[in-house]
Amino acid sequence: MKALLLRRPGGLENTKVEEVENPKSPVVVKVVYAGLNPVDINVILGKVNYNIAPYPHIPGAEFVGVVKSVSSSKKFKVGDRVLIYPRIYDGTCERCRSGMEELCKTGGVLGVGENGGFSEFYGTDEAHLELLPDSLSFEDAVSIPVGGLTAYHALKRVGVKSGEKLLVIGASGNTGWYSVVLGKLMGATVYYVSRKKWVAETNASEWKQEKVDVIVNSMGAEAWEPYVDYLETNGRIVTFGTLTGREVKVNLAHLYTGERSIIGSTGGTRKEFTELIKLVSENRIKSRLWKVYDFKEYEKAIAEYGNRDGRVLLKFAKDES
Ligand SMILES: [Zn+2]
Repeated sequence: MKALLLRRPGGLENTKVEEVENPKSPVVVKVVYAGLNPVDINVILGKVNYNIAPYPHIPGAEFVGVVKSVSSSKKFKVGDRVLIYPRIYDGTCERCRSGMEELCKTGGVLGVGENGGFSEFYGTDEAHLELLPDSLSFEDAVSIPVGGLTAYHALKRVGVKSGEKLLVIGASGNTGWYSVVLGKLMGATVYYVSRKKWVAETNASEWKQEKVDVIVNSMGAEAWEPYVDYLETNGRIVTFGTLTGREVKVNLAHLYTGERSIIGSTGGTRKEFTELIKLVSENRIKSRLWKVYDFKEYEKAIAEYGNRDGRVLLKFAKDES
């Protein structure tokens, strides 16, 4: 099979589409689409110091496809459309046993700590797979594993309640979009900050300096001030990204006198992955698609990523069955 292969740490010059051996796993999935996310770009360009393994390395955290062969699975058969849980977890450590696979002691993210899905085929076992409901297209489903799950878990961590005011900064991104849509589903009044006009399609309101109960900060430092000053008493900020910087100033008095909280969040649990697929399918949640590139054009996709106006997908299989 062909795969996007990173020979050495970082840099497009170390990356090439190459022929590698087909996976021999209990379930082999023919990859149809992969979503391009900041984590993949950081892996490919070597922008962040991750513990990447193995080398040569196949990036790709977020992808969907069709079961191509099964040597051991009671749950899946050839031809099933599937989503792949994007976290690496052993299922045996104390955190996994208490349902926190995203914090597994030997865990990590697919395409970082293990080979990911930027390849024609991906091998795994049934524990990592979920059936894609018929009502969901591959194009919409491909944003669930990273964008959807990260947002869903963050909103659950921060405990958004019906009637609360929620502010999403960077609402046109993969996680931002889901934070807006899922926040509304959870009954929150959602405000957003975004330069993209199409975010208004969600019927959320553009933020006009209202005080809010919860802030979703997926962008890091530049999404900190002045927003943090608009956090209500007992308000919470949840953060899971550092695209615009990782260091911020915290006014401790503002924090404790109003019993405000800063909450970290990463990925999502295995159970939440199952819940979310149901939620997205029942509510027909769509993603905003911008461009689809053949995976061999990955350099072009990465070059244009900064100008994106919706999702950037890589297409692997021409035939989706
Ligand atoms: Zn574990």
